[in-house]
Amino acid sequence: MGNSFDIRVEALANPAASVAKAPAAAAQDAARGTFFLETFGCQMNEHDSEKVAGLLMARGYQQVETPEAAGLILYNTCSIREKAAQKVFSRLGEYRGLKGDGKRIALLGCVAQQEGEDIFSRAPWVSLVCGSASYRKLPELLAKVEAGEQRVTGLDNDTDETFETEMTRRDNPWRAYLTIIEGCDKACAYCVVPFTRGPERSRDSARILQELKQLADFGYTEVQFLGQTVNSYADPSPRKMRFSELLAEAAQVPGIRRVRFTTSHPRDFTLDIIEAMDAEPAICNHVHLPVQSGSTRVLRAMERTYSRSEYLEKIAMIRGAKRRTAIWRNRGGLLRDASPVG
Ligand code: SF4
Repeated sequence: MGNSFDIRVEALANPAASVAKAPAAAAQDAARGTFFLETFGCQMNEHDSEKVAGLLMARGYQQVETPEAAGLILYNTCSIREKAAQKVFSRLGEYRGLKGDGKRIALLGCVAQQEGEDIFSRAPWVSLVCGSASYRKLPELLAKVEAGEQRVTGLDNDTDETFETEMTRRDNPWRAYLTIIEGCDKACAYCVVPFTRGPERSRDSARILQELKQLADFGYTEVQFLGQTVNSYADPSPRKMRFSELLAEAAQVPGIRRVRFTTSHPRDFTLDIIEAMDAEPAICNHVHLPVQSGSTRVLRAMERTYSRSEYLEKIAMIRGAKRRTAIWRNRGGLLRDASPVG
């Protein structure tokens, strides 16, 4: 796999190789080794795209601003909104003629996982369909696409591995997203995430902290830990660090002035998280705690694993913190706007 990338990078580094070619062929050569990546959806998707971009750049690809300038077009999709699949197929329709220009088109993310191989029937100009639980296999999948395979898939979401990259391309120079847990093991009746992102997999705490120290060395001052249910974090290493301990240790990393986390699940929001926030000023006094419904009957129908009174107990616990803390609950927005966040 490495060789196929190396060859292309060398060709790019040698512009003379395309001098004698016709303009169309020269344009194709120029686009080779370049990618355009468009992202839809949540912060998890945005950060996945940063990691995918880093992975491509570590292999010699260059990111470009338009699909026209790219040899590889990636579309990282979200299925949380209504009619998401129709929107994706509508966007793919815009790429219909591009495969004939030698471009390769890849569909990533939740719609890719949800629609699977049907995408090839509806949009035969797509070469790669890959869900987020298979991103760790992207180098080998891309190598197949580069080798000319037409219908390459990464749709296995029964995994215990996380998406680790040697390089991540971050757009913001101060605040870094850092995924600590992928997937979800809850089974809320209305949600596709357990199917599209696979089971819960937590990253090794040592790797998370090592990455955070590197970010601080690069000048980042703020980190946002990400996870579909970020506070369900379960360190797979022998250290078995709790989520609250991870927050506290992150807050101690020299240079890191703010530690945020999103999204928290009410069931797993425990007192030790509040205690860590009280003890470490660098942990921002802001909690995103989706309520979903104020009715226990509806919460049960949603299979949310907590009742109205249990949710309110969590709110009372947060309100009991020494630091005034802002609570964002989705429905109805901010529950309590207190001292400035962070
Ligand atoms: S906890 Fe969140 S991500 Fe998991 S199934 Fe429920 S709504 Fe979906």
